[in-house]
Amino acid sequence: MEINDILQTIDKITENKSNLPVFQELDKIYTYLDLKKESEKIANYILEKIGNKNTPILVYGTQNFKMLAAMLGCSKSGHSYIPIDEHTPTERLQMITDVANPELILFDTHFDENIKEVNSKSINDIEDSKARASYPNLSLDDVYYIIFTSGTTGVPKGVQITHRNLLSFVNWEVSSFNLEKEERFLLQAPYSFDLSVMSVYPALVSESCLVPLTKDTINDFQKLFEMLPKLEISVWVSTPSFMDICLMQPTFDKNHLKSINHFLFCGEELPHKTAAKLRDRFGDDVYIYNTYGPTEATVAISAIDINGDVLNKYSRLPIGYIKEDTEVVILNDGEVAKPMEQGEIIIAGPSVSIGYMNNPQKTKEVFFKYDDKEAYRTGDAGHMDENGLLYYDGRLDFQIKLHGYRMELEDIDHHLNQVTYVKKASVVPKYKDGKVQQLVAYVVPTDDEFEKDYLRTKEIKKQMLETVMDYMIPQKFVYVDQLPLTQNGKVDRKGLINEVNGK
Ligand code: AMP
Repeated sequence: MEINDILQTIDKITENKSNLPVFQELDKIYTYLDLKKESEKIANYILEKIGNKNTPILVYGTQNFKMLAAMLGCSKSGHSYIPIDEHTPTERLQMITDVANPELILFDTHFDENIKEVNSKSINDIEDSKARASYPNLSLDDVYYIIFTSGTTGVPKGVQITHRNLLSFVNWEVSSFNLEKEERFLLQAPYSFDLSVMSVYPALVSESCLVPLTKDTINDFQKLFEMLPKLEISVWVSTPSFMDICLMQPTFDKNHLKSINHFLFCGEELPHKTAAKLRDRFGDDVYIYNTYGPTEATVAISAIDINGDVLNKYSRLPIGYIKEDTEVVILNDGEVAKPMEQGEIIIAGPSVSIGYMNNPQKTKEVFFKYDDKEAYRTGDAGHMDENGLLYYDGRLDFQIKLHGYRMELEDIDHHLNQVTYVKKASVVPKYKDGKVQQLVAYVVPTDDEFEKDYLRTKEIKKQMLETVMDYMIPQKFVYVDQLPLTQNGKVDRKGLINEVNGK
């Protein structure tokens, strides 16, 4: 059944099943009725304070119930919201408020009072008030939320997602992934990363419960693995990098995590090794979806279940079939590419954002009309086969030239990650006078018996030569315990590039 309004759908569930769990923080279970009461309390405060004109409200905190209620409270009072994670540095927070100019900041904990010009209020200090007879709500064209992209340098861009954009995504997820009602969704990504939207709204419109894992737990391995089996998660949503961390624990398997029936991945490339290991640990009864998409097209626009056949057929996994209401074209030098021909992935359809907030210049660079639909240039290289299956070939901005040879850093990563002695690796270019001078590989090695690093390097190079051209073999190898991750839990390649180039 098609969902036409997010809040009305949640309200309907609350009317019929008010005691259903909606959010579980450790032993504390919140119901749909709790969420309604808390979000209306916040909506009442907003309406009193700033009225119902759709201006953005910044909500600052971690993945807890209060923050969820605050986001819903914004929507209920007819406002869009900007979710900001509590680990955000003050400087970045200031840049975001400079761009967004929010009328109000709602915060939960640890708020930096330095952002003084803006009206701010602790969610915990909002007092009970009587529910109103009706709330303004948001129309389809209204902006629902704004997510600021996690660029490491420069001014952050606020991707504006409308109610229509969100509905296009949510309707696809609830109808195309074999999900049931009353699931238990893992909420691992911070609300400021749109991967969290893959859990939040599909859960809330399908009578399901959200189960958060906060940074404190994730950073404490022992706590994490003690906790996971108790959470009884049925739908796992995370980045592949977070899965790689979990797979380091041998008990991360079907025997210990019986309730999981779905794995949904998005945000970065799902390595073949990761998916194969997961299949091995959980068998054929679970779905392992590789999904693809940028924040600018609302979370994800393509998906494929990585079953045994797919694992056997492809060494680099496809990123899936496109959702029905959306069109993907591959543009090569301005021309539509033929099947299997490489080019830039262009997404056109109802989930494509209306543009970056208060930034017409950047908006014009990447958003345009295609076939009369909103379209977005992803900056991703890709190709599509005759059956409409899409493949990712790396970021166009990670395409480099070394001694005249054009290559994709992610392509080299892919082959390096296949080597026996490599657990996980990422390759970055070292520049001199604006030109790539050498390739540096950061490698997390497996537990091997090499007495010296150079002996391992020799073996890795030998194995790589079986699959790649010699000019693609990194000149320098750096061995590390773990690759650095961004705030959103993806491998921080830009950070490594800065490190190698002494920035
Ligand atoms: P974000 O807006 O942070 O979600 O990042 C979007 C970018 O992440 C995309 O443009 C891709 O470069 C990358 N990405 C997302 N999903 C996948 C995937 N399944 N495989 C490969 N790259 C992905």
